[in-house]
Amino acid sequence: MTAKIIDGKVVAAEIRSEISMRITELKKYGVTPGLAVILVGEDPASQLYVSFKEKACEELGMYSRKMVLPDHIAQDELIQLIENLNHDDQIHGILVQLPLPDHIDNNQVIESISPDKDVDGFHPIDLGRMVTRHDAFLSCTPYGVLKLLKHTGIELEGKHAVIVGRSNIVGKPMGQILLNEDCTVTFVHSKTKNLKEITQLADILIVAIGSPKFIDASYVKPGAVVIDVGINKILGKTVGDVDFDQVKEVASYITPVPGGVGPMTITMLMRNTVKAAEALNLKKQIQ
Ligand code: NDP
Repeated sequence: MTAKIIDGKVVAAEIRSEISMRITELKKYGVTPGLAVILVGEDPASQLYVSFKEKACEELGMYSRKMVLPDHIAQDELIQLIENLNHDDQIHGILVQLPLPDHIDNNQVIESISPDKDVDGFHPIDLGRMVTRHDAFLSCTPYGVLKLLKHTGIELEGKHAVIVGRSNIVGKPMGQILLNEDCTVTFVHSKTKNLKEITQLADILIVAIGSPKFIDASYVKPGAVVIDVGINKILGKTVGDVDFDQVKEVASYITPVPGGVGPMTITMLMRNTVKAAEALNLKKQIQ
C-alpha cells in the first residue's frame, strides 16, 4: 500500500479563500481584522515565524502590528503592554511568540491576554471552554490537524487516535479536540512504557515530539492515518518526526514535512483572528 498524501498547502489555500470572504464581509462594517504579534528578544527562529505571520496578514488584507521588545524587558511592562492591546479597538487577536526569556513567567503572560483576543488558544479559559465543548479558540496547530483529517473525508467517530507528545500547545489540545470528535484517545509520551505496542493500535497516529524520523514503519498499523507535526532540521533539511519514506508504504494517509501541518498553523491563526473580529463586531452591533 502507498499512502495518499495530505497536502497542507492545498487545504490551507481553501481555508484562506473562506477567510478572505469573511474579511470582505467584515470590511463592509468598517472592520479590518487586526493581529498584534509580540516578539521578545532576537531568537532567529521566532523572528522567522513572526515574519510569516505578518506576511499572511498582509496577503489577506488584515492589519498586523509587530512589537519587538528587548529580551531584558520586565514582566510587568510586557503585561501592561498586553493590557493596552486588550483595550485597543484595532486589535482583535494578540499573540505572544514563545518561547519567552527565562525571567518571564509564560503562564502569567498568557493569562493577561483577554480570552476574547486569545487567537493562539493558549489561555486557560479558552482551554476550559474547549474541554467543556463550548465555543472556543482552538490552538492553531491541532486545529489545523483537525482540518487536515476532515479533508480526507475519513470518519473520526469511534476511531482510536494515539497522540505521541503531550505539550500544552500541541499534544494535549490535539487529544481533547479528537475526544470532542468522538475518537477514543490515548496519549503517549517520553515516560510511556511499550510505546510501540500502543502506537501500533492507532487508527489515527499524531506525532508531535521533536525527534527526527522517530516513528518508522514498525510503529504503524497498516492502513493508519499518520499526521506528522514535527519540524526538525538535519543538515539544513527540514524533516518530521515520522520516517516518511518508510511509513508511506504502510499508512493509508500521511502528511509530508514540509508541506503538511506547517502551512495549516498560520492559516488557523488567521482564521481565529477573523473569528475574534467577527465576535467583537457582533458585540458592538448589539450594543
Ligand atoms: P515539546 O518539546 O513541548 O513536547 C514534546 C513532547 O514529546 C513531550 O510531551 C515529550 O514527552 C514527548 N516526547 C519527546 N521525546 C519523546 C519520545 N522519544 N517518545 C515519546 N514521547 C516523546 O514540543 P512541541 O509539542 O512544542 O513540538 C513538538 C514538535 O512539533 C516539534 O518538532 C515542533 O517543532 C513541532 N511543532 C510544529 C508546529 C507546526 O506548525 N507544524 C507547531 C508547533 C510545534 P514528556 O512530556 O514526557 O517530556
